[in-house]
Amino acid sequence: MTDFYNTRILLEPNEIPKEWVNIVPDLPAPMTPLINPMDGKPAPPELAFAIFPKECVLQEVSQEPTIQIPKELRELYVRSYRPTPLHRAYGLEKELGIEGEDIKIFYKNESVSPTGSHKPNTALAQAYYSKRDGVDELITETGAGQWGSALSYGCNLFDIKCTVYMVRASFIQKPGRKILMRAFNGQVHASPSKLTDSGKYYYEQDPDHPGSLGIAISEAVEHSMRSEKSRYSLGSVVNFVLLHQTIIGQEVKAQLQKVNAKPDVLVGCMGGGSNLGGLMIPFAKDKLDGKYPDLEIVGVEPRACPSVNKGEYRWDYGDSAKKAPILKMYTLGHNFIPSPIHSGGLRYHGMAPIISILAKKKIMSSVMHHQTEVIGSGLLFAKTEGILPAPEAAHAIKEAIDQALRAKENSEKKTIVFCLSGHGFFDLLAYKEYMVGNLVDYELPNVEIQKALSAPDMPSIDETRF
Ligand SMILES: *Cc1c(COP(=O)(O)O)cnc(C)c1O
Repeated sequence: MTDFYNTRILLEPNEIPKEWVNIVPDLPAPMTPLINPMDGKPAPPELAFAIFPKECVLQEVSQEPTIQIPKELRELYVRSYRPTPLHRAYGLEKELGIEGEDIKIFYKNESVSPTGSHKPNTALAQAYYSKRDGVDELITETGAGQWGSALSYGCNLFDIKCTVYMVRASFIQKPGRKILMRAFNGQVHASPSKLTDSGKYYYEQDPDHPGSLGIAISEAVEHSMRSEKSRYSLGSVVNFVLLHQTIIGQEVKAQLQKVNAKPDVLVGCMGGGSNLGGLMIPFAKDKLDGKYPDLEIVGVEPRACPSVNKGEYRWDYGDSAKKAPILKMYTLGHNFIPSPIHSGGLRYHGMAPIISILAKKKIMSSVMHHQTEVIGSGLLFAKTEGILPAPEAAHAIKEAIDQALRAKENSEKKTIVFCLSGHGFFDLLAYKEYMVGNLVDYELPNVEIQKALSAPDMPSIDETRF
């Protein structure tokens, strides 16, 4: 019988996690260092401290299995929006014809945050540590605008200046996000801009250059190096961001326990890997310990930007102008400029080193979907669950639906949990185009991938030197 009192599984404010879960010491292969793009050697702490907030650098390289969440920050999470609900997707289950207790779909609703995605989980932490260490400006890039609005919100709470370089294609396509950033006192510039050398290079070739995350990162890093009291802030990819996001998976664990459920599959979309990382790391740790051997972890990418599915695991620059650190990760090459799909948050050429190691070691798997089927699944979710998802999150929905239908066909029992990383209220154009039949699919041809990966400026790092 349907237990409608368990449709939204909530935690009390004081049940918010007290620590973040660090998977780095438990990884099946050692974490690779951040490499200084200037000399190809591991970045010394002084350099990292000059770029990122200090506490974040210490967390990036920490070997502690857990890291305490400062009390003031926990209080701020609670005052702002946490813990977030875990929903049982009864409406969607009914639509798929899987009512009952054999196949269950749950989703963690990160869309209830002030800016509508999981990104404030790390934005608040980074703004908190920056304020504590006397930083007065954080500079960042944003694709679709989710990260820029989250950081603007966080900085404004701590009275820190926030400057955002926004990929021009999105700057034009998503004016709503720009306004939201400005509402939180964020300074927003279309990238490539004339304000940095990295931006000028592209801007002078074409003032209407659509930009890319890689270019916007270069601009933000360059800008952040100008002052002693400003730092560069990242919304995904690096270890400390995935660490801050583990608040998601820990809450999910506690919520599932309340209804005596255990996941068989965890699903999340992957742009840089932070929402999936946040959901799965607390569970992956158990899997690596042998406590949860059959747990499946699935990352979902767009066919137009399949870093893990079709890229190579190798050293690459984090950005186009080669100013950001070099990372060992799955990458499509730093020169890669993805097709203008609506999931701006999934258009990054690389992938978090943590996710890359787990995928390489087959602790998790990855799949790809086309944007029309993704947006179609997003609409089905809106009709049945009442939340219009971000196009990024709709990738996870599409995969959760496929998993459920496969289980139904094979008469399997399965509990599927996915991360609803955000809502789509600022992405209505994607839905409109789908409705009028204008949405097109992009598949990245293998020759293009090979071309980007064999560019003469791909870094070659001698690992025997460290
Ligand atoms: C930024 C974003 C993503 C992609 O980033 P990850 O670091 O891979 O989580 C996914 N969904 C939403 C809603 C986002 O804003």
